[in-house]
Parts: sequence; C-alpha cells; structure tokens
Amino acid sequence: MLRTNTCGELRITDVDQEVILCGWVQRVRDKGKMIWVDLRDRYGITQLIVEERSSRPEIVKSVKKLGREFVIKTSGKVVERYSKNNKIPTGDIEIKVDSIEILNTSKLPPFLIENETDGGEDLRMRFRYLDLRREPIKQNLFLRNELMKETRKYLESQQFIEIETPILIKSTPEGARDFVVPSRMNQGQFYALPQSPQTFKQLLMVAGFDKYFQLVRCFRDEDLRADRQPEFTQIDCEMAFVEQDDVLNAFEGLIKHIFKSIKGIELNDFPRLSYQEVIARFGSDKPDLRFEMEFIELNEIIKGKGFNVLDNAELVIGICAKGCGRYSRKQTDNLTDFVKKPQIGSAGLAYIKYDEDGTIKSSMDKFYSKSDLLSICKFGNVNPGDLLLILAGNVKKTRFALSELRLEMGSRLELRSKEIFCPLWVVDFPLLDWDEDDQRYTAMHHPFTSPKNEDINMLLESPGKVRANAYDLVINGVELGGGSIRIHKKDLQKKMFKALGISDEEADQQFGFLMEAFEYGAPPHGGIAFGFDRLCAILGGTDSIRDYIAFPKNNSGRDTMINTPAPISIEQLDELSIKIVPK
Ligand code: ASP
Repeated sequence: MLRTNTCGELRITDVDQEVILCGWVQRVRDKGKMIWVDLRDRYGITQLIVEERSSRPEIVKSVKKLGREFVIKTSGKVVERYSKNNKIPTGDIEIKVDSIEILNTSKLPPFLIENETDGGEDLRMRFRYLDLRREPIKQNLFLRNELMKETRKYLESQQFIEIETPILIKSTPEGARDFVVPSRMNQGQFYALPQSPQTFKQLLMVAGFDKYFQLVRCFRDEDLRADRQPEFTQIDCEMAFVEQDDVLNAFEGLIKHIFKSIKGIELNDFPRLSYQEVIARFGSDKPDLRFEMEFIELNEIIKGKGFNVLDNAELVIGICAKGCGRYSRKQTDNLTDFVKKPQIGSAGLAYIKYDEDGTIKSSMDKFYSKSDLLSICKFGNVNPGDLLLILAGNVKKTRFALSELRLEMGSRLELRSKEIFCPLWVVDFPLLDWDEDDQRYTAMHHPFTSPKNEDINMLLESPGKVRANAYDLVINGVELGGGSIRIHKKDLQKKMFKALGISDEEADQQFGFLMEAFEYGAPPHGGIAFGFDRLCAILGGTDSIRDYIAFPKNNSGRDTMINTPAPISIEQLDELSIKIVPK
C-alpha cells in the first residue's frame, strides 16, 4: 500500500505516530510562515502543516507547488493541533509534514469541489467524476450502497432468491416506449431492453422458484423529469401461492426494515386505502398524508344560488387551509395564478376567508349572502381563522387541480417536512384506464394484472368498472412501488388481451410464450417492484433521483460526460443493415 492510514481515521490518540497519507489537495492556506493543506480522500479530510522555520527547504518548496486537486503522497508525524476544529472527526490533530511526493498534478477544476459548489448542473454532469468527489454526492452513493445491502439482507432472510433475467429481450408493456437494439445476426430484427422483467419473473414462478427478487436495471424511453431516468433501478419481486395481503405484508416488512436500519425510524403499520377513497379525499392516487387538508365536496350546499360557474359544474370541491383566514388579496391572487397555470388547468379559484373576528370575505359575495357563506363554512368544518379554497368543473380535471393546490398549500404552510414519513398502500385500482386520445382501454398497471374475482364477469361488458388486484406503495406523495396479483390462467389472459383491443394473433405473437407457460401448471402468483432510485431520494431527503445515480443522464437523455447518444460508423450501420434516412 502507498499509505499507512486514510485521511479520515487519525485521532488525538494517534499523536506521535509516523504516518503516510495519500489523497487530493482540497485547499492550501499559505500564511507565509505556516502553510496548511487540507488533504482529502474517500474517508475524510486531514490537515497537513508545513512550518517555514522548522521544515526542510525542499518541503516548503514542494508544498508551494501544490494546487487544488493535486494527488499527493505525504509522510509525517501526527501532532496535536493548536486550534482544534470540532467540525471534522480528525479536527484535533494535524500532520507535521516530512515529505511530499506529487503523484499527479491537476488542472484547475471547473467548479469548487466542496459541499456547496459554484458549478451548475451541466458542468457538474460533464465532469461528474469531479462532482462525485464532493461530500454530499459521495454520501448519496454510500446511502445507495447501504440500501442495496439492507434490501438483499432482508429479502434473503425471508427466503427470496436473487435471479438475473436477460437484458436483451422482447417488449414488456409497462406503458412506455421500448429502447431497441438491432441484431447483427438476425438482420432487420431487434431486441427490446426490458421496461421491467415482468414476464420473466412470472415464468420463474411457473418454474417453481416461489420467492424471487432482483435489483435490476430497467429501461423506458419516455420524457424525463427530476424523478425519471431512461435507465433506472428497481427492487423487483415476485411470490407464488399468495394473495394480495400476503404480498403487502411481505413488502411492508421490507420497507419497515429499510427505514429502521437506514434511518433508525420505526414506521407504524401502513394504512390501506382504496383507489376510490384516495381519489375522493385527496384527488390523487399518490396522496401526501403528511398533512390532512382533505377535499370537501360542496355540490349539495353550494349550488342553486345563481352562480353559473358553480351551478353548471359537475363537481364543486374545496380544501380548508387552517389559519389562513387573513390571507391578503395579493396572496389569494397568487393562488389563483397558481391554479390557472397551464399544467394545473383551472379556469379560476373561488374562496371564503373566515377571519377570527367573525368577518367573512369571499370572491363570490355577489351570489352568496353572509349567512349562505356561513352555512358553507359550517358544512365544511371551516372555522374562524380559516380559508376555504374552492374549485369547480369537470370531475377529473377539478380533482387533479385541487390536489395540486392542496400540495402547494401544504408546502406553503410547511406541512411537508422531509423528516416525516407517511406511507400507505393504495389498493383496488381500476383494471383499465380509458385513453381519450386513442379511444380505447389501456391496462392501468400492465396486461398481466388480475381482475378481482367478483368483477371478472364485467370484463367484456363494462370494462371500465372492473377493479384489479393491484396496489401501490406511496410515501409522502411519491409512488415508490406498485404491483399486482397476476393472471395465471390462459383463458383469462386471453380475455384481458381482448378487453385491451389486442387481437388473438397479436397476443400470440407477443405473449404466446407466457400463455403457453400458463398451460404447464402455473401457480397463482403476484409481486411488486419498487423504484430503487426514488427510495434513495426519499431516504436522503431530496427530490432529484439523479443525485443518487453515479452517472445519470440529463433531461434530453444524454450523458454529456461520455457524450452519448452518438452516431455510429457507416461500417457498423452496414453490418446491421441499417440505413439512416433523415426525416
Ligand atoms: N412490473 C411492474 C412495474 O415495473 C411491477 C410489478 O407489477 O411487479 O411497475
């Protein structure tokens, strides 16, 4: 080894030891007679000291040559520091330098390699290996590693076996586009990268493995956001001979174990709420339960006073913002602007401000008398001091807009602390979703999800009403995982494809292998997959999953460090018989 110790381990008890350290020069402070160097490695920072008076001249000369991020090897004696730094674990000591060897020089880094950096996102991604030297990002990768270890530890203790499934496969429908890979040996034919190992894990159940998991990379070609990457990691799981509650119990155990071992937090049992219920109470299938502010349905109390906008609306709903009864005009205007943003899509916002002194002000004064407004407040449990915010219109759009407003108010009122974790299971999802654009049903989860037994007879007549044995795990408004009990019989699977408007031929061509497997003793089975990167972000307390991925892609799906995607040579294209025809 080039070194005797790391930069993170020397303490006051090591004083007088002769040591050799290696690392990167974080900073040099040259005060003339004394020069200090902060030396950094993966384990921490240790201070080096060179004194002009007592050090040999060549040492003084070499230390003056050091620049940021030079890689050095240094030897010296551990001494007690005169002024101690209690912010770092090595802060009681420093190394009185005996020798310095420059192992490599460094160009001046394009941004500060410190906790707070002056580098923007683009620059940090282009030089990601430098960004990864920064403590917060480094810690994120350690957290990720811990999460991997704890996940494996727990699942292995529950007799799950980790099995790898192939990366070059055929399309698995999870609702995104496939990334495809051309096959040289089968000209004109393509593999698809897995959107998930869904069909393979089901086949593993048919094979009898009973409890499977995999920390697996998945690929989905869709538009990117802060919490999405074209390639991401899942904790993918499947079990045989189970019903929905067995799966929920097993994986509630995993999530509890993760929170306990990584954050020291004991989570209570997770509530299980139906899709219908969360939509009615919070307008979202991934409600943030860190705060209440539940929807109040106002149709019956508010209609019939001549205010057309409300009278003609399919749904009038509100939320009560406690303690906001004195919001200024500017503040309510600001909320109106919020709901009118195109991504929220409301035409306007109505409100009732109920001051603590009993006065009531409303945007609907023209149509509602004071006593009308008071009865609305009473109906909705809105007390003096509170603000009632009201949206109206089409059911789906209004619920969506109010759920966004609810989250916004939760943030404004600081009710969404990153230190509080409120998990829940959302169950009983609809099996199918009506796609307005394509005028057809699509699978809400995926086509292998089993309808509830009692709803199967509606599958072909009223598909929209069928509920699925499907569930999501939601924490703090983030969908962290989802799964279902699967169809394990060929006939039902065929019926499902039919409900999705997929012809027998197409179904056979795409998924014949799965339906064939169902004919060879497929056991009842079900499973779930968790978004591993999102789980890291939740545990780490930030919104962007990119911070937990060593080499992520940017919003256009590019890796700017290795500069890809990139063109390939004519020879390669020829070999694949691919011709690029410009659009
Ligand atoms: N394959 C599903 C997904 O990736 C999860 C599951 O149903 O187990 O979302």
